[in-house]
Amino acid sequence: MTHTPCPICSQLKDVETSFYKYGWPEHDSPLPAAAASLVIVDVIGEDRERFHLRRCPSCASLYTYQFSYDYYVNGSEDEEVLTRLAPAEALTYFRQHAQQLEALRQEIDNLQGAAGSLGDYLDRGCPSPAEAEASFEQMQAHRQAADLARQRLQAQVDAFRQTCPEILQVWAEAHSRVCQSLLAADSIPGASPLDEDVARYVAQSTLPAWQALPQAGEAFIAINTAYLSDYLERLQAELTIG
Ligand SMILES: [Zn+2]
Repeated sequence: MTHTPCPICSQLKDVETSFYKYGWPEHDSPLPAAAASLVIVDVIGEDRERFHLRRCPSCASLYTYQFSYDYYVNGSEDEEVLTRLAPAEALTYFRQHAQQLEALRQEIDNLQGAAGSLGDYLDRGCPSPAEAEASFEQMQAHRQAADLARQRLQAQVDAFRQTCPEILQVWAEAHSRVCQSLLAADSIPGASPLDEDVARYVAQSTLPAWQALPQAGEAFIAINTAYLSDYLERLQAELTIG
């Protein structure tokens, strides 16, 4: 095991295990006190009682925490396992969560796009009154779902800004690289030269939003795939580089 000079981590082995047996306090062996000094990385929707990531407030080392619980006739047993992550494992974790954020971002983009298409249809599609009513209801449902997903994304990004900005850096840097590669290309795939100009403008105005994302601001950044047609494929490749 490598020696670490951090005052908290130096009190934790690479793997620490606790054990509690109800009715048998003399058999209890808790985690070292230093485990409680670690800060929980808050992931929305995760069953944090059973699994979460913790990080050292002093040196930023990461640990996984797992809790298990077994019932027996003569009482129950709890076990906790705290495992220090190697740098490569931490990067895998950052990438997985960046991909989850991106999936949620795309869900919002799709819902807003679907609501927009229905709005266009209502404005210009000359629907019958019955069709108009049905389309309006569907549009409202998409908007509501988009708003909820947007709140969830914002809450998660705000939480990661506090406890694990590396996840946001992995996500934002992948987007920034896609914007930069599009801007560096001789031409952006487009139906016409005018489309190419718009695509370039879209890439140029999207880039600073991603560069700012790890620190502050709106968590949802729309990607105009109508003009940046292969953007999401490029992004997928950037997010899965191993
Ligand atoms: Zn530490």
